[in-house]
Amino acid sequence: MRRRAAVAAAAGVVGAAAAAGPLLDRYAARVEARMNPVTPGPWPAPSERALALHAALRIADLHADSLLFGRDLLRRSSVGHVDVPRMQAGNLALEVFSMPTKTPKHMNYEHNTDETDDVIALALAKRWPRATWRSLTARALHFAARAERFAARSDGALRIIRTRGDLAAFLAERAERPSLTAAVLSIEGAHALDDDPANVDVVFDAGVRMISPTHFFDTAFGGSAHGMEQGGLTAKGREMISRMEARGMVLDLAHASAATIDDALSMATRPVVASHTGVKGVCDNSRNLSDEHLTGIAATGGVVGIGFWDVATGGREPEWIARSVGYAVERIGPEHVGLGSDWDGAVEVPFDAANLAILTDQLLRVGLDEASIRLVMGENALRVLAEALPA
Ligand SMILES: [Zn+2]
Repeated sequence: MRRRAAVAAAAGVVGAAAAAGPLLDRYAARVEARMNPVTPGPWPAPSERALALHAALRIADLHADSLLFGRDLLRRSSVGHVDVPRMQAGNLALEVFSMPTKTPKHMNYEHNTDETDDVIALALAKRWPRATWRSLTARALHFAARAERFAARSDGALRIIRTRGDLAAFLAERAERPSLTAAVLSIEGAHALDDDPANVDVVFDAGVRMISPTHFFDTAFGGSAHGMEQGGLTAKGREMISRMEARGMVLDLAHASAATIDDALSMATRPVVASHTGVKGVCDNSRNLSDEHLTGIAATGGVVGIGFWDVATGGREPEWIARSVGYAVERIGPEHVGLGSDWDGAVEVPFDAANLAILTDQLLRVGLDEASIRLVMGENALRVLAEALPA
């Protein structure tokens, strides 16, 4: 009897652990739904002209955090903002999927330390490999492997772009098969390199093609716009950028402190981006770019990706995104402005990837011409990638 009870108890423990998996998954989905909502409209329906133009565009977005929560990106979800079916519905050809490997508790836009780690809760709840508990590089490799598995299971519907050749082949094939989608992998915050610039090579080999020196706190590589010191690039930061340029990776200045942006612009020899940001000229806060930095990024041949959420643009309605795009186009020309949605990045946005035609419509409404809209919606981002990626 006692023995049977012991066996039953052991079976219960194993059963509880197995049962906890789906429970934790549901918990993670609930957290994601709360963190990544869509602002309820209704917004004005896109005009016939906007829909026709939108269907003819090659669209690329410079930043989404959709790999973080572990949702199956091959299935259409009502949670969050991006998955492959919604990319297909919204005619979004290419998404830069970014990896935030560590975020501070009580994250705010003013001052954060690196002492706390909110991502560890997700690592435990979603049963990530043990190495990810301590190593942020291991977390990046975990995200890259997840993207790889999506691509492998997608029957060719999702490609990971690693080279210029990959990009050219993808665009040529997509002209025939518009349901094809592509991913470029990026890292949000160089703390993901575990403080070692040599790890640029490790993440490059895993497919990463874009890195920002910082996310919400200062790192061994540079100061964050939301850090404690907000200093400039360090020696390690300079070494990281040199290694990135040598390998064919794009430097991303989103979330960087003003001093880090200045330092990076003075040393960059390749086009740089600010993958997801706003402009101080429309919405003045610590998060957004000054006119001087807009000009500096344009001077490298790079692109400023305009974000879709209210802190970037100044409001919750889609017209605010178009206003910020319009401002940036006026300052630095249509060749240097792009999309930086920050979809699935713990932000509320007015539309998900499936409803991206709302933005094309809004860009027409603020008076942008079709040639400029074509550049902003994707051609600029594709140009920078084609120039930067390895042969
Ligand atoms: Zn971000």
